[in-house]
Amino acid sequence: MVSRCEISPPCNYCSLSSSISAVQGERDRLSARGVALAARDAVDRGVDSIVLVGGTSLDGSDRQVRRTVEAVRDVTDAPLALDVGPSISTDTVEWLKGQDARTIYCSIETINAEAFHRAKPGDSLDARVAFNDLLQRHGMTLGNVVMNGLGSVGDLVNSVLFLRRYRSLRYLYVSTFHPVPGTPWATRRPASVRTSLATLAIARLVFPQVHVGLAEVEVEDPGSGARIAPQLRAGGGNTFAAILVYRHRRVDRMDEIVREAAGAGFVAG
Ligand code: SF4
Repeated sequence: MVSRCEISPPCNYCSLSSSISAVQGERDRLSARGVALAARDAVDRGVDSIVLVGGTSLDGSDRQVRRTVEAVRDVTDAPLALDVGPSISTDTVEWLKGQDARTIYCSIETINAEAFHRAKPGDSLDARVAFNDLLQRHGMTLGNVVMNGLGSVGDLVNSVLFLRRYRSLRYLYVSTFHPVPGTPWATRRPASVRTSLATLAIARLVFPQVHVGLAEVEVEDPGSGARIAPQLRAGGGNTFAAILVYRHRRVDRMDEIVREAAGAGFVAG
C-alpha cells in the first residue's frame, strides 16, 4: 500500500479489518523509497506499466501520493496508474497529468447502495461516483474493480453496466470475494469464480475496447493471480498484474503468464 487507509471501520472483507495482526499487516504501508525500488525492479523484469495501490482517506492523501509518485519518477518513466479511492484533490489530479500518471482507479465495487454499505460501512458510494465524474471531466482515463460477492449476481452485472456512463473507462476488473481470517466476514462463503468469469465475458461484450480481467488480490484471495488461462478463454486478460509487491511479500507471475498465454495461443509482450 502506498498510502494509509483511514476508512473507519475498514471494509468487512478487507484484511485491514482482521483482528489477527499478521493478517492485518499484509497491507502495511510501504515507504516511498520501498515503492520506488519495487517499481524499478518490476520494470527491470519486463513490466511496462505500474499501478500504485493505497488505502482510502476521505480527508485526502495528497502529500503521501505526491511523495510516492515523485520517488517512482526518479527511477522510471513507465506509465503510472493510481488506485487510492477518492482521496486526492483536483490539484493533485492535474499534477498527476504532468507525471504521466493519467489513469486513476476509484472503484465502484457495487452500485447497489445497500450492498455497498453492508460491505463498506465506513466508505461512501456517493463520493466514489462523484470522484469518477470529476476524473472524467478532467480528462483522466479510469480503472475500476467490481466485486463479486457484495450483492446478488444481478447487482454485479448492473455494476458493470453502470460504468457505461464513463466513456474514458480503460481498465475493468472483477474481484471475487474470499473470506479472510479474523475479519467480520471470515465465515461467509466465498463467491463463485465461475460467476466472476461469466461477468468478465459480459464485460468484454459491453466494453470491446477496454482492458478486462479478473482482479489479482493475493492478500484477500490467495491464488487469484493464477487464473490466467480461464480469463483468457472468457475474453479477458489484456493486461495482467505480473508482479505484486506488498510490504512483507512479493509475488512474481511473469514466467507463468508468458507460458500460459502462449499455451492459449496468445503472445505476451
Ligand atoms: S477502502 Fe480498500 S484498503 Fe481501505 S478498508 Fe476498504 S478495501 Fe481495505
